[in-house]
Amino acid sequence: MKERKGILIVVSGFSGSGKGTIMNRLLKEYPNIYALSISATTRSPRVGEVHGREYFFVSKEEFETMIQEKKLIEYAQYVNNYYGTPKEYVFQQLEMGKDVILEIEIQGALKVKEVYPNTLLLFVTPPSAKELKNRLIGRGTEDEATVASRLSRAWQEVQGVEHYDYLVVNDDLEECVQKVHSIIQNEHARVAKNHVLIETIKAELKGFAEGE
Ligand code: 5GP
Repeated sequence: MKERKGILIVVSGFSGSGKGTIMNRLLKEYPNIYALSISATTRSPRVGEVHGREYFFVSKEEFETMIQEKKLIEYAQYVNNYYGTPKEYVFQQLEMGKDVILEIEIQGALKVKEVYPNTLLLFVTPPSAKELKNRLIGRGTEDEATVASRLSRAWQEVQGVEHYDYLVVNDDLEECVQKVHSIIQNEHARVAKNHVLIETIKAELKGFAEGE
């Protein structure tokens, strides 16, 4: 049987880019292909968020213990809170052949790419900065100061977008979900990701060439 190893994917995008919605749709449509990593954070839950579903909501002390015990693949500070990716679940899922998505910001994304160079980095953006501002205000979950700080953070983040492999414009949600799915699945066709199959075919052909 063909051996399929999972791909590690980082999806970043401005707060308000709609990346969370895209990821949820992707998981709903292809539950056997993808797994979404659940991060730990010290920020407070928003209305409707559940511990262990959107995030593991932990105290600053608990987070710092996770750092010390090297339980995180990466972590970063974002708008005065810690966010980090727990290691165990990600590697378990990759071993099982799932493509694992980390929905994290740019500092974390670059750290992951440094440690795991085969990681695929996708950056999601709304069609324009004006649209981004409207979406953040329209979400109604953030006060004015937080919207301002997320916009200024977006300005910082856009400076690093060149480090990503793909830019995905989130204009039409359905199109965007399919685009992200195609990008990731095409990655499985890379020669570098198919050494086992290539070696098997080579060995078989060698046998034929030798008159087997
Ligand atoms: P939010 O507070 O809006 O849920 O997330 C704020 C930012 O933190 C988003 O850009 C999100 O992608 C990022 N983030 C969420 N989890 C992690 C994580 O585990 N590590 C890093 N570096 N960023 C994260």
